[in-house]
Amino acid sequence: MTPAIEIRNLSKRFHVKQGLFGKPREVRAVDGIDLALPEGATLGIVGESGCGKSTLAKLILGLLAPSEGEVRVAGQSLMALGRRERAKLIQPVFQDPFSSLNPRRRVLDVVAMPLVAQGGLSSAEIRAQSLAMLERVGISAEMAGRYPAQLSGGQRQRVAIARALVLRPRILLCDEPTSALDVSVQAQILNLLAELRRDLGITTLFISHNLAVVEHVADEVAVMYLGRFVERAPAAELFAAPRHPYTRALLASVLTPEPGLGVPDVGLGDTMPDPSNVPTGCRFHPRCPVAIPRCSTEAPPLVGGAECHLLAP
Ligand code: SF4
Ligand code: MG
Repeated sequence: MTPAIEIRNLSKRFHVKQGLFGKPREVRAVDGIDLALPEGATLGIVGESGCGKSTLAKLILGLLAPSEGEVRVAGQSLMALGRRERAKLIQPVFQDPFSSLNPRRRVLDVVAMPLVAQGGLSSAEIRAQSLAMLERVGISAEMAGRYPAQLSGGQRQRVAIARALVLRPRILLCDEPTSALDVSVQAQILNLLAELRRDLGITTLFISHNLAVVEHVADEVAVMYLGRFVERAPAAELFAAPRHPYTRALLASVLTPEPGLGVPDVGLGDTMPDPSNVPTGCRFHPRCPVAIPRCSTEAPPLVGGAECHLLAP
């Protein structure tokens, strides 16, 4: 079967100059990502800030052109499609619903806009479909007449979700969709997303720096470090028995390590990775507490979903 979304060797390089007279440096924000997801799956993508998550999101949405590789949704190359066709295949939900909703449009109009832009429906049909989607996400017809500023943060994110789903896209890409919300509201939005995913069978990419959130929503998790997926595994497996030293460090930094799991508590310290200076060999080696000499010179092999020399047989 054709995967719902397929990503091949996706890369994005930027050239940035440090200061007026600095030499341009190459930033490899996304560096050779491969992925194939079946219909209805939910992949969580986790990593620290600066790991390339947001660039990856923009590439997947077709908002940025890749330096190499391609993204295919339902067998079609996104870059080959126009904006309208892309909108029917993949839709985003971003972190801050306040800045992503036009403050001068009423909620009903915000949700109706994608349908209007597609054309082909009467205004009565557009209104009915928009109100139905709003109701589905928990926004009443009365609230649909309000402006975004008159809603709470959680309600605004519900509106953003309705707008994303009103075209019935194949893929929903959520980039930190609950990070700007209070913890109690976060849970409501996550439950709503889970419910919609189940009912609509929509394939979801869920990008977050928050491991607890990803554990809650994803059936599979990819761990991103300096532009690459360094480990990918079913969620339950990844959280119970992380294999890559970086994943273990990430988990140890937010969770109390389970005694008896044999997982060393690896600290990450506060050295942030620098995407304009990707280390040779294994990109994690300067921070890796269990590195061996080969790690600084040889790129690690992919073994059972994780890229690490120590996992090689
Ligand atoms: Fe650490 Fe080496 Fe494995 Fe990289 S390849 S994660 S440096 S042990
Ligand atoms: Mg980001």
